Amino acid sequence: MKSKNFASDNNAGISPQAMRGLIEANEGHVPAYGEDHQTTQAKEVIQQWLETRADVYFVTGGTAANCLSIASSIRSYQSVVCHPFAHIENDECHAPSFFKAGVQLRFADGPNGKMKLGSLDGIIESSHGVHGTLPGLISITQCTEVGTCYTPNEIKALSNEAHQKGMHVHMDGARFSNACISLAASPAELSWRSGVDLLSLGGVKNGLGFGEVLVVFNKEVSDRLDYRVKQSGQLMSKMRFLSAPWIGYLESGEWKSNAQNANEMAMIFSEKMDRFDFIKILYPVETNAIFCEMPEGLPEYLEKQGWNFYPFNKVGGWRLMTSWDSQIDEIEAFVQDVEFWAHKMS
Ligand SMILES: *Cc1c(COP(=O)(O)O)cnc(C)c1O
Repeated sequence: MKSKNFASDNNAGISPQAMRGLIEANEGHVPAYGEDHQTTQAKEVIQQWLETRADVYFVTGGTAANCLSIASSIRSYQSVVCHPFAHIENDECHAPSFFKAGVQLRFADGPNGKMKLGSLDGIIESSHGVHGTLPGLISITQCTEVGTCYTPNEIKALSNEAHQKGMHVHMDGARFSNACISLAASPAELSWRSGVDLLSLGGVKNGLGFGEVLVVFNKEVSDRLDYRVKQSGQLMSKMRFLSAPWIGYLESGEWKSNAQNANEMAMIFSEKMDRFDFIKILYPVETNAIFCEMPEGLPEYLEKQGWNFYPFNKVGGWRLMTSWDSQIDEIEAFVQDVEFWAHKMS
């Protein structure tokens, strides 16, 4: 068995096509700072994948992509509305305010990690004019922090609501591919065709090694990202190593098979876990994460057997996460250990 690891899809390695792209890019001298042919080609491949000529920036990670989206599209007196579970709120050391001094995050709650439609009026009203911040952007996470997905119609409805209030729409797509697979929807349908203005497009959790992509669909909303990327230390000199892996990863369909495997494994895993009456699955399993409550003693026992996973405090419960390379025998062995524990207890 490979890993005994359900801690995070971030713990997995690089998948073969992405690795091949990386190795092939290590050929000779090419211009730096994104002026190389691999970066030009990778941008075109991403544009084709998204079916539109969006602006594409390769940055070091999702935090940078999220915060550059925010910094370039709102003013310092404006706020960003997101779900309380959002990565920008819980997992980025308040980097939004580092990239954009003054920015405030405000929250629109909703079940299953999704922002509820119709929240914006209340948020705007509670600002009491110039005494509060002016909501300027919504940021939705696809798939959400609890592994659920916004359907195209849900995205459209939220985008319409935001646009009607003069706000822009950002999507944190750290696991965007998993959502495309889960919904059987095209990348275009889940983004710009549903009103998304800016997308943080993740690849690392789905088999790439480093770097994420910032995509600007609506060029009117972002102010001089070219300069902001450089100013924030996000213009990598040897850009080809960030960009080139995307070419084969998308063109070969590896993005799809990777996400498919991760999602499928989670589905099988959750069905098996759901059969134990002492395990409570907390959210619908739609992509590659399972959140569950476990009885006292079980997590400790599993950890002693060498399993790696952890409690996810921001949403409650334990998170079991599958990856592009998760295998059925790992899942079966985990479930066997759960059975063994239950047997011992009875
Ligand atoms: C992993 C993740 C990110 C990106 O995190 P980095 O570590 O900055 O690359 C962003 N949003 C969500 C929802 C994530 O899960």
